[in-house]
Amino acid sequence: MTDSIATIASGAAHRLRSLLEIKTRIMTSSTHAFDEHHPPSTEIIDKCVHCGFCLPVCPTYVLWNEEMDSPRGRIYLMKIASEGAATINPQWVSHFDSCLGCMACMTACPSGVDYGKLIEATRAQIERHHPRTFAEKLHRRFLFAVFTRPDRLRLLRWPLLAYQKSGLQSLVRKSGILHLLPKKLGAMETLMPPLGPAEPMPELTPAQGEKRKRVGLLLGCVQREFFPQVNAATARVLAAEGCEVVAPKEQPCCGALMIHAGEEEGALALARKTIEVFEQANVDAVVTNAAGCGSNVKEYGHLLRDDPNYADRAKAFAAKCKDISEVLAELPPRATRNPLRLRVAFHDSCHLQHAQGVRSQPRELLASIPGLELAEIPESAICCGSAGIYNLVQPKAANALGDRKAQLIIPLSADAVATGNPGCLLQLQSSLARLNFKTPVVHTIQLLDASLRGAKFP
Ligand code: SF4
Ligand code: SF4
Repeated sequence: MTDSIATIASGAAHRLRSLLEIKTRIMTSSTHAFDEHHPPSTEIIDKCVHCGFCLPVCPTYVLWNEEMDSPRGRIYLMKIASEGAATINPQWVSHFDSCLGCMACMTACPSGVDYGKLIEATRAQIERHHPRTFAEKLHRRFLFAVFTRPDRLRLLRWPLLAYQKSGLQSLVRKSGILHLLPKKLGAMETLMPPLGPAEPMPELTPAQGEKRKRVGLLLGCVQREFFPQVNAATARVLAAEGCEVVAPKEQPCCGALMIHAGEEEGALALARKTIEVFEQANVDAVVTNAAGCGSNVKEYGHLLRDDPNYADRAKAFAAKCKDISEVLAELPPRATRNPLRLRVAFHDSCHLQHAQGVRSQPRELLASIPGLELAEIPESAICCGSAGIYNLVQPKAANALGDRKAQLIIPLSADAVATGNPGCLLQLQSSLARLNFKTPVVHTIQLLDASLRGAKFP
């Protein structure tokens, strides 16, 4: 008993020392403070009781064991900034840039601290007040100009396809030239998915048999152009289960990448356009198959709360949004499942398990396939390092997390890895390849689609 009190006391003293150290280090430089447009809520900040339950699941704390790179440390940094005891300076910003926004801390927190709202507000403040370097600005502009525009991604398809199919890619990779490139450029190359043929997505896919629902399909940006087979599989499965599927061509990017990176204005414009497009489609539900997009559209009510023209519409839209696994869990299976004799490791995407609270549904979906054996990946709460544009802007930390995840997958001897987010898919593919493993990584819905079609997999 005496020992445990001593341990707790020593832990508390260590924590206090760390927090005081943060304060001293942060207060030594100065530029800006929070403005009045939605600063991080002090009410939410004050809910944090510094218990540290969130630390073991925080990927950056796991990597570096640094209080300032833990949820508790970051919340403390927000607190001292909101009290005027610290300013938005490069060192302060670096601890938020290193956060993956994975929301594992929210799942772990017994006090219900809504870290998601805090980090979103903090990042928007950073982008308004922190002068990024010219190189950072250029890199971010490039990422948003390309990855939020399906039309531009489409233009990239042909040169990328030529690069891959001509053998130039394997030559470049074998030559070691990638190690000479700036890390962020190298990261982009290694994350490039193997491109297949484009799969046309009809605007209307009729339901098979008696119609049970009319659903809209959010196509995503990267998903639409680089993983068209996932959208095609989603539409086929929904149709087979009696859903009429509407996939409006004019739907824009949903704004997920931008909001998660603090680019509030651009993200809200995309949110308004997305709502308008799906209002026209007149659907019972909006289906998402990219967890990052899904968690973003479910937050539209909060994001557009100040806009008198959109606040109610955003809430109504968000209430209709569901991950594909949630939609299928609500529909008693009607289509015949054919056996798939595979051992499948399932990877929980953070934006599905933590941000949307969807864990059991994808597992149920896989369990409904006869012959499929599900293998659980240890440390499932911890991010694979993908996290939106994180693996493009913080490649070193992202690679360390990717390697850690791959090392946990490899001993499972799985025939395939399944996940519910294109970002995780890319990250796991490249992490396994870095360790010389070629285990196919697929979207969960592709396995169900293969089962319904009686197709061989992979
Ligand atoms: S969002 Fe993820 S990386 Fe950021 S503090 Fe929470 S657990 Fe850590
Ligand atoms: S678990 Fe919650 S209350 Fe405890 S330190 Fe983390 S954020 Fe704060």
